[in-house]
Amino acid sequence: MFQEALKELQYISTQVGLPIEYTQGGGGNTSVKLNEELMAVKASGFKLKQINPKEGYVVVNYKNIMEFYNNVDLSLDRDYEKESTEFAKANVVEMEGLKKLRPSVEAGFHSILLKYVIHTHPVYANIVCCTHKGRELMNEIFKNVDFGFVWIPYINPGFSLTLRIKKAVHDYLNENDKFPQVIFMENHGLITTADNPRECLDLHQRVNDMIKTHFGIAETYPKIELDKLDENKYVSRTEYLKIYLKANKIGLDFFDRNVLYPDQLVYLNENISLGGMDNKLNINTETGEIIYLTNESEAQTMEETLLACIYVIDNINRLGLPLKSMTAEEIDFIKNWESEAYRKSLVKSLKK
Ligand SMILES: [Zn+2]
Repeated sequence: MFQEALKELQYISTQVGLPIEYTQGGGGNTSVKLNEELMAVKASGFKLKQINPKEGYVVVNYKNIMEFYNNVDLSLDRDYEKESTEFAKANVVEMEGLKKLRPSVEAGFHSILLKYVIHTHPVYANIVCCTHKGRELMNEIFKNVDFGFVWIPYINPGFSLTLRIKKAVHDYLNENDKFPQVIFMENHGLITTADNPRECLDLHQRVNDMIKTHFGIAETYPKIELDKLDENKYVSRTEYLKIYLKANKIGLDFFDRNVLYPDQLVYLNENISLGGMDNKLNINTETGEIIYLTNESEAQTMEETLLACIYVIDNINRLGLPLKSMTAEEIDFIKNWESEAYRKSLVKSLKK
């Protein structure tokens, strides 16, 4: 059942899931609506590039999830954050031969968009999304395009983010008579949505390409290289990182001052040691050398996340833009969020 739609889901997921400039580690998610009720959406803890008709996704009743968001009454004093996660989990539909997994924590906003949804954390879109000038830049770069787009100021992921996107889509539709198919999320990433898979992919590509052109980014994104030194010991051979870390002599507060988005917190911040060898990700600030003390899968995820963060920070600084970091309160929410703890617990077991 639904073979064709699932193959399309696999196609869009690999197209945006393989390039590490678009997707790092287990970040990002995709979905396809299978009929009037059912939606296949990435499973939490899976990588986009691992999705195929047999695994990596779950099927949920998106109609129910949509109704949940249509009917919430915020005047009631309820833990909607928790309830919405429970509700999404309770609306997973068992499919023959498919493992019953948890849907992506972002299944909420997938439910309220068009048939195909691509959500990634692309370094190019995130140059725009991680500066105080983001909204202004978006309006300038995309002033002549034929598609609709909206800006979502940073808000806690999960329940709050879904409600905020729902309102932005609603307002945009009222004013413009067309669906906003491109959504920029401050300190987070990009969403594109369409009723056909090619268009959804094409929008994702166009948005990133237009940002590259606007900023004059012509070089290809750095390649990642990890060498195995020992069991659970890897060294980074990624030239770009080594050069940056050596030249910029980053201090202890570097990663705390520059918190770009939740995935940086989930995969990097607590695992970094500067000048020591006592954590999973150890940076020698004199030489720029990076040693990972963990398995290959986790080292790979960390290296991809680190490269993306440094690349975005480097470009924002180079362009003279004011970097916008997440606030202490926003950081606290992510650190205490049960859904993220769950996602984090899966990172070691992710296949390459
Ligand atoms: Zn995301």
